[in-house]
Amino acid sequence: MALSHPNIEDGWFKETCALWPGQAMTLQVKSILHVEKSLYQDVLVFESETYGNVLVLDGVIQATERDEFAYQEMIAHLPLNAHPNPKKVLVIGGGDGGVLREVVKHDSVEQVVLVEIDEAVVRASKAFLPNMAAGFHHPKVKVHIGDGFAYLKDNVQSYDVIITDSSDPVGPAESLFGETFYNLMRQSLLPGGIICIQGECQWLHLDLIKEVLDNSRKIYPTVEYAWCSIPTYPSGQIGFVLCCNEAGRDLKAPVRKFSPEFESTHLRYYNSDVHRAAFVLPNFAKIALTKN
Ligand code: SAM
Repeated sequence: MALSHPNIEDGWFKETCALWPGQAMTLQVKSILHVEKSLYQDVLVFESETYGNVLVLDGVIQATERDEFAYQEMIAHLPLNAHPNPKKVLVIGGGDGGVLREVVKHDSVEQVVLVEIDEAVVRASKAFLPNMAAGFHHPKVKVHIGDGFAYLKDNVQSYDVIITDSSDPVGPAESLFGETFYNLMRQSLLPGGIICIQGECQWLHLDLIKEVLDNSRKIYPTVEYAWCSIPTYPSGQIGFVLCCNEAGRDLKAPVRKFSPEFESTHLRYYNSDVHRAAFVLPNFAKIALTKN
């Protein structure tokens, strides 16, 4: 029997959400590949006409095969190249595997642990998003199915870089946006450690971003905000909050760089110039995010 889903009508997927009122991204659907109610969320995978296979959780686009590289490369390489020698890395969320695929491109990394609350996302990615799920099959990777919030409590002073590749602050990821969570990540960092969090969209969520930055500045001496363009996220871009537990660290310039050859063969969005440019904000966002 053909699969169906409430967000797909007349051959189009529509992404409506209270987090972006009055607007919706729509993608034309070639076929529905997977529909599941997991323990935590609604999981949908469909083949689109122009963006490859698409992973949707609770009605929100998480990754498409055509543009996921922009987000996965930036959320991984901004913190990793801002760190002089990252060895131990933690990824919270990231159940599609794309961030893992990027983290293991760093020779300095000895181990990366992924903590994903929902095994259904890992299973769906392995079945339908092979270019992202490739990240799971690396010898440096260890996957833990569980709540990132709880995992941090049991793993203090353990990581050089922590990346929180979470869904939006509703549903299972709600706890990943509060001050307590930022404190837990700080306790899990080694000296000189850096965190990088999915930082929503400056066109839609300036108040939420400002709150996250203000809370972070109470906990970390160094806090920055960066962004990248990505067509299928709301308003076509997504941000990143980067924090370091050391004062005076410049996260806005890479302290390590990939070779030009590596950049041209292994990266499609990130390079050392893009690293710097990502922290340059348009005036409306700069004013809103820096005002006291
Ligand atoms: N790139 C996407 C974005 O920016 O919206 C996020 C990708 S990834 C699919 C988000 C993952 O976070 C989901 O697989 C979800 O299950 C996971 N997640 C949500 N809350 C979590 C929690 N408390 N602990 C661990 N993983 C969580």
